[in-house]
Amino acid sequence: MPVSPAIAEQLAQVIGVLYAEAELALIERIQRWLAADIEAPYWLSAKLASVRDVQAAVQAILDALATDADGKIRQALAEAYGRGQQAAVAELGALATGQAAAAAVAIPGAPVVDRLAREVIDGMGPVYSRILRTPTDVYRAVVATATPRTLLGVETRRETSQRVLDGLASRGVTGFVDTSGRAWDMASYAEMAVRSATGRAAIEAHTDRLGAAGVDLIIVSEQPLHCKKCDPWAGKILTRTSGQGGARTVEVEHATRDGETVTVEVAGSLPQARAAGLLHPNCRCSISAYLPGVTRPMSTPPHPQGATYEDTQRQREMERHVRRWKRRAAAAMTDDERRRANARVREWQAAIRALTDEKGLRRKPQREQIKSAR
Ligand SMILES: [Zn+2]
Repeated sequence: MPVSPAIAEQLAQVIGVLYAEAELALIERIQRWLAADIEAPYWLSAKLASVRDVQAAVQAILDALATDADGKIRQALAEAYGRGQQAAVAELGALATGQAAAAAVAIPGAPVVDRLAREVIDGMGPVYSRILRTPTDVYRAVVATATPRTLLGVETRRETSQRVLDGLASRGVTGFVDTSGRAWDMASYAEMAVRSATGRAAIEAHTDRLGAAGVDLIIVSEQPLHCKKCDPWAGKILTRTSGQGGARTVEVEHATRDGETVTVEVAGSLPQARAAGLLHPNCRCSISAYLPGVTRPMSTPPHPQGATYEDTQRQREMERHVRRWKRRAAAAMTDDERRRANARVREWQAAIRALTDEKGLRRKPQREQIKSAR
């Protein structure tokens, strides 16, 4: 059974949902804070007086999230590591008894799981500290856009608060912008980090097992939803570890017949190919053991409804719009505003339905049904 970063994809989704729900809870908390006493003349000074309380509430939401998420991240990584190992064992059934037996011995995944979990959790640290500043930042933003004169009107307070909240909801609470200028909401950021780690755990488990069985070659196969980045590697045979590297022809022993050799065209090493982008996060391509003389390259059937990798990325983008409008609904200062945002949520959900129906893609209802705390 080939292994792909995609085999662990839905494990990361669970964690994305946790973060999305926490992000909604945070925005609702800030919205309630701004909405409280909005008609009172002392509104702005009341906000200033309560910044610390709101900060404590935000801290409590983040603490609960961290406890919940840390355990689930470890679980997801352990599961991904297990799946990667099982994939290798399933592939090695054809080997001589001694080798297959070596492959059947489980490799403890704990060190890899611990290392990858630490990386993901540490990576979220700066995001958490940024979020903790949100109440102060929101207060400053409200003060900056309001003059003493405009603060007299309750409507103006509402509009100002709404503008600040909308900015927060649209960007996502993290306000994190990557080097390519893309803004990440908290859930997308966390999910991306977990997805890339679970993908790595599955691939590492698989190659570790192949190593234990003395299998040195692997073959790359593309899936119906393959990505252009990986196309140059499709059907190529690679060495599992970086040795001499580079494309070459090698004479290797037949996997099951003694004294027979097989000529194999090797395109390079797996570490080389991965450095060039193969098996990137979101990748659909897969690798499996290449058993000389036994493994036949698989041909890739096209997707039955013509879906492409780009369609899956489009679906992801639409899911981000759903989440964004759910945040906007949570940030709404008036019922009208909330109704408008919810209408946009339903529009994007309908668009996802249309795309997945047309292309025969799997919907991820879990991601579209993120519940607000209210
Ligand atoms: Zn790929």
